[in-house]
Amino acid sequence: MSVEFARRFIKRGWKFIEKHKLLEENDRIFIAMSGGKDSLTTAYLLKSYVDEKNLDCELVAFHLNLNFEISKEIEEIVKKQTDEFGLKLVKVNIKDYGINLVEISEKLRRSICSVCGVVKRYLMNKVARENNATKLATGHNADDFLIFFFKNVSSGNYDLIAKFKPVLKSDNVKMVTRIRPLFEVGGEETKRFCDFMQFEYVKKPCPFFIKKIDVKRIEWEKEINRISQFEKNFKKKFMSAILKFSDCFKLEEPKNCKLCGEPTNKEICAFCRLKLFQNRISKS
Ligand code: AMP
Ligand code: ZN
Repeated sequence: MSVEFARRFIKRGWKFIEKHKLLEENDRIFIAMSGGKDSLTTAYLLKSYVDEKNLDCELVAFHLNLNFEISKEIEEIVKKQTDEFGLKLVKVNIKDYGINLVEISEKLRRSICSVCGVVKRYLMNKVARENNATKLATGHNADDFLIFFFKNVSSGNYDLIAKFKPVLKSDNVKMVTRIRPLFEVGGEETKRFCDFMQFEYVKKPCPFFIKKIDVKRIEWEKEINRISQFEKNFKKKFMSAILKFSDCFKLEEPKNCKLCGEPTNKEICAFCRLKLFQNRISKS
């Protein structure tokens, strides 16, 4: 591990931010921070870029407390991370939205990861927009995109490739523009970077993920890392190829949910359907 690696890593991140115009003057960026290494690296790259370029751009960290046993500990780590970077932190607890992930997933017999995903996507967009964010930054990395790409394309789901962009805009004004600074960066690199910088981050995997292991995801991940061993810069090269493909596909623009008015492709959004279910089980 060398200072040279860290320097190159940061320079590469800044170049990516610049090339894809992730940050612009007068932006108010919400950075979704989970406590993990990827969103921490995202926050570091954005903050250091704004400071380096003296950009007039406001960065605000945002954390969603999922109300699990481990959540208090995670929230404290996120607080330390944002204090270290001098970022304001907006915290939201999903219980204030009447959601209990464990209960819903047990009663619906649906994996907690899929229920959690619905709630996170919904609240990240809603809270960012209600706080006047111009963009929402997430720590999705090249591994996440590559696994998603191979899983979906091999099951014939092509249209989703339209979402594979470092800057994802929508015609629906209620959808906050997404930015993904780690679009071409692998998970092993962010780990190496955070460890070198001696940053504190959540190392324990999600307790529910261990119980309900996504076997295909793990196999794809192994395969992608195996290819990366003999094909230099595989992840970066493949992601720039996917970015070119993504222009060939178009997703239907979301309309607004009949109940809550948030963006969705259905009449009633997935979050409202969970809430309706939660209300029903709470009464029974
Ligand atoms: P995941 O869906 O857990 O793979 O996380 C993908 C990205 O979503 C992370 O890199 C974060 O930017 C964001 N994220 C995940 N969980 C949270 C959370 N509890 N609070 C805020 N942002 C989150
Ligand atoms: Zn809704």
